[in-house]
Amino acid sequence: MSAHVYQFACLQDNFGVLVHDSDTGATASIDVPEAAPVLKALAEKGWTLTDILVTHRHADHVQGIPEVKQHFPKARVVAPRGEADRVPMVDIKVGEGEIVRVGKLAARVIETPGHTVGHIVYWFEDDNLLFAGDTLFSLGCGRVMEAPMAVMWDSLEKLAELPGETQVYCGHEYTLANGKFALTVDPSNDMLKQHLEKATALRAAGKFTLPSTIGLELAINPFLRADEPDLRAAVGMPNADPADVFAEIRERKNGF
Ligand code: ZN
Ligand code: FE
Repeated sequence: MSAHVYQFACLQDNFGVLVHDSDTGATASIDVPEAAPVLKALAEKGWTLTDILVTHRHADHVQGIPEVKQHFPKARVVAPRGEADRVPMVDIKVGEGEIVRVGKLAARVIETPGHTVGHIVYWFEDDNLLFAGDTLFSLGCGRVMEAPMAVMWDSLEKLAELPGETQVYCGHEYTLANGKFALTVDPSNDMLKQHLEKATALRAAGKFTLPSTIGLELAINPFLRADEPDLRAAVGMPNADPADVFAEIRERKNGF
């Protein structure tokens, strides 16, 4: 496998992530929350930035692009077609099903409207990697700000259908806060409790809780489990439509 991933902290709780193709030397930054840590990571690895893959237009994902482009003027900015006009310095606009290449690596674009209307994620199918931005977090999901709840549920369902072994990288380290909430709606989930203990120990040791996997999130992330009988019973909606259960737990999380 020629894909190498390097994950590091940016801003308060954002992740910076570099994806490197060792065959060609191509390197992509997934979003640019902040220029300095991304430039430092590239220098540490000795990698040359060739691509910037934007998940959505929020400032904490794109504000570092202009400064990074000063150092790597040839780096190509790939952005979601649905909101590319609000992303700086875009070279290529992409949407559902299109393939984005980073050297010889290939990512399929999946549109996941909800957090923002144009949000996309990048699935490197051959390398089992998903860069989920602010759509899916470990034990959580993004705030639904620009689409009906049912649309966000459909977006999450698309990610739930990816292979279980897919490694999931996210826009933020929110796992512990998400986990506290998850326990309130899925209190009898032993895997969730065990994972939260592990995550707590990782954070106490100054380590990240990501990447996760699709398989793990299906077992412990309440926002992917709105169709599970146990969770539906726990929130008092045993016969409701999964999209409505999702909406209910997302609303509860907003007020948590
Ligand atoms: Zn965001
Ligand atoms: Fe964000």
